[in-house]
Amino acid sequence: MFTMVSELQNYSEQAIQAAKYIGQGFIITLDHMSRLPLTIQYPYEKLIPSERFRGRIHFEFDKCIACEVCVRVCPINLPVVDWELKKDVKKKKLKNYSIDFGVCIFCGNCVEYCPTNCLSMTEEYELSIYDRHDLNYDQIALGRLPIAVIEDSTIITISSFASLSKVSKGIIKKNSNSKNVTNFLD
Ligand code: SF4
Ligand code: SF4
Repeated sequence: MFTMVSELQNYSEQAIQAAKYIGQGFIITLDHMSRLPLTIQYPYEKLIPSERFRGRIHFEFDKCIACEVCVRVCPINLPVVDWELKKDVKKKKLKNYSIDFGVCIFCGNCVEYCPTNCLSMTEEYELSIYDRHDLNYDQIALGRLPIAVIEDSTIITISSFASLSKVSKGIIKKNSNSKNVTNFLD
């Protein structure tokens, strides 16, 4: 008789414990239902990079004086400055300039120390290619300015993760004129 009572007591305790765990699981589920998503539908939606974002470097050939300061301040001496000395005017003349973004660590030192401000960091971060050698940008590729995310009408732009909550609440409406897959699927 005593064993039976004891087993019944154990069973009741286990049932209560199980109910408690199920209750905790439901509370966590309900809590997550009220949370806002922290993901975006890239590449159809994109975050606007911050003002100081260090993306692909832009180079202005005409402003460069071939001083090679960018090479000296680079932790890996990366920029290749190809120049020749014009003896008649006793000045360096830049012939070619390149940066290999397969090696660059985007520290921004070259941009910071360039005396003529011919280097700047853009918001471009989509540099994926199939051949790593294609990441070695010459002055032509470096001189190209990327399309700003906010000017791209084919995508939805989101200013920050904080805005995501507003989108999900419908405070910020999605751009219905944008031709993107997200809209086509709606
Ligand atoms: S520091 Fe600026 S001006 Fe000097 S070589 Fe580099 S890019 Fe040209
Ligand atoms: S960003 Fe840094 S690593 Fe890249 S080229 Fe400039 S100094 Fe070198």
